[in-house]
Amino acid sequence: MTEYVADLLKDKSIPFNVSGRDYLVKCLNPEHDDSNPSMRVDKTTGIFHCFACGYKGDLFKYFGILSNHTFIRVAKLKEKLAKLKIDRDGLTIPPVAIPYVRSFRGISQQTLERFEAFYLPGESKELKGFEDRIIFPIKDITGKIIAFQGRHTMSAGQPKYLFYPGGVQIFPFPAKLERGTKSIVLVEGIFDMLNCHDKGLTNAVCTFGTNSLEKETKNKLFPYKLQGVEKVFIMFDGDEAGRIAAKKIKPLVEQLELECEIITLEDDQDPGELSAEYIHSIRDYINNGNNS
Ligand SMILES: [Zn+2]
Repeated sequence: MTEYVADLLKDKSIPFNVSGRDYLVKCLNPEHDDSNPSMRVDKTTGIFHCFACGYKGDLFKYFGILSNHTFIRVAKLKEKLAKLKIDRDGLTIPPVAIPYVRSFRGISQQTLERFEAFYLPGESKELKGFEDRIIFPIKDITGKIIAFQGRHTMSAGQPKYLFYPGGVQIFPFPAKLERGTKSIVLVEGIFDMLNCHDKGLTNAVCTFGTNSLEKETKNKLFPYKLQGVEKVFIMFDGDEAGRIAAKKIKPLVEQLELECEIITLEDDQDPGELSAEYIHSIRDYINNGNNS
């Protein structure tokens, strides 16, 4: 007999007792304050029925899962459940993680601490392949961790960047701005963003590459508009790809009724390598523009 129903109940942290062919749980009807479990859930089909209030349904549908579960492989379902759990609760930093308390490639310890950089002492079952990496929790606007990004600590280490979970839809980061921020500076990678923050440009936001932003510009930038942003600066890498992407994205930003300006870097310069002096001059330029 399959245990899909029991797995689902466990995954949703719903306590249950076995009662014949059913599980006995507290009623799922939000309007029924069920102090004694009065809802029966069929062990195999997941069909539930509350004998006190009459609420019935299908447990899988209730949690947004295909009801035709008989044919779903256990692994697939578990993956789905894990994803639902992540959607609801976010990810957690593995308990074995060790905070990264030194500087890395010109980024100060303070900045790395602020972004909660950590590393793993060895292999981890939660974050496979993330050993030898400096890892950052990527948070959404509510502070929930939606992904991890790990950069190999060796220059030649491959792949240079790794995401967990794979294929997750990532919004620009940081999602939440300091109160009163009127502009943002879009940069391509997380280390571009970290370098800018480190040198005082604290409204830099990384887009995790330019491709995904081109497709979802409005969705991805709208949350900043809601936070009061009026102007977007695009400061992508000083190469052809960066320049082309900036030109493509500018009109998309303007469709959101945000002002947009491209900051073009010299050839082969990228924001991850800019000096403090250079970044201060950009910050001054941005601030003066906003005051006048
Ligand atoms: Zn009920």
